[in-house]
Amino acid sequence: MSKRRIALIPGDGIGPEITAAVLRILEATGFDADWVYLEAGLGAVDKGKKAMPEETLDSIREIGVALKAPTTTPVGGGHVSANVALRKALDLYANVRPAKSLPGVKGHFSDTRIDVIIVRENTEDLYSGIEFMPHPDMAQAIKVITRPGCKRLCEFAFDMARKQGRKRVTAIHKANIMKLADGLFLEEFYKAAAQYPDMVADDIIVDNCCMQLVTKPEQFDVLVTENLYGDIVSDLCAGLVGGLGLAPGANIGVHAAVFEAVHGSAPDIAGKGLANPTALLFSALMMLRHLDENEKASTIGRAVLKVLAEGKTVTGDLGGTATTKEFTDAVIKQIHEAA
Ligand code: NAD
Repeated sequence: MSKRRIALIPGDGIGPEITAAVLRILEATGFDADWVYLEAGLGAVDKGKKAMPEETLDSIREIGVALKAPTTTPVGGGHVSANVALRKALDLYANVRPAKSLPGVKGHFSDTRIDVIIVRENTEDLYSGIEFMPHPDMAQAIKVITRPGCKRLCEFAFDMARKQGRKRVTAIHKANIMKLADGLFLEEFYKAAAQYPDMVADDIIVDNCCMQLVTKPEQFDVLVTENLYGDIVSDLCAGLVGGLGLAPGANIGVHAAVFEAVHGSAPDIAGKGLANPTALLFSALMMLRHLDENEKASTIGRAVLKVLAEGKTVTGDLGGTATTKEFTDAVIKQIHEAA
């Protein structure tokens, strides 16, 4: 049988280091793939290409599945985000970001059992890229919310929640202020909810949601929301369970799925061998489950949990002193010992 093809974007900053670590761990389980290396981000821009080159998009369209490490986007000017371009071009409308308490991971919330999944809209909202200056002293950014966009996202969230045995889906919004845009989102949310009578459906205003995520995070199950609120709330949730080094994500569309960590290219620690590869690794586990490689995903998941729980070989972001390589070696050792 020919090997399964998977598109791979090693990205910028810590991207290549954590990608190498993840590939080593996948290989340790015997997972074999024909990795198709693709360019995106600064590397592409330096060669005079777009941050998300057309040929990269074409390859992902053709292959259908990609693992992507973070890419750098300049702030304020420079090239447009490779990520926004990717999500829009491939219509990867649902961004799934789980945040779950992990054994051994210390933090302000380590005594609380948190297990939420954020489903973030990925192609609309203030990320429409429509910005202009009608006057030198005024900038306007357009928030775009469409009925079909809300409908498919909310239906996706309920469908995913049911498949994963979840009980409650909560819509996050600011419909008290943005009565039309967020009102439309809420309307479609409750239309979708009516198709899933087995599921509890409710809604919460985004500011109250942030407060309650910090005071009583264990109450939430699946959260579904627009692009900007989802971006911020999912980083907040990542912080609740140990930080960005642990937070995975999946960008799902009808024809393609791209798996990537929530975090960025971490230029402050790039090239030093200090990055935590867990977030990209957990994203790869979501990819394995998407590919029905559930056993290999569980094997790796158990090995990582053991290394985290022991706490002896964890990276600096988790309070340890291990390098990326030492952590990776420890996970691989666990995989071999469990075999
Ligand atoms: P960042 O996520 O790169 O870093 C924030 C902080 O978290 C830094 O202190 C960093 O060292 C730390 N951190 C992040 N990932 C880590 C890991 N795996 N291990 C240990 N520590 C980690 O956010 P930023 O600094 O705001 O952004 C840097 C660049 O990344 C920007 O150009 C931004 O546009 C880009 N970015 C890309 C993506 C993506 O490609 N999906 C997502 C977010 C940000």
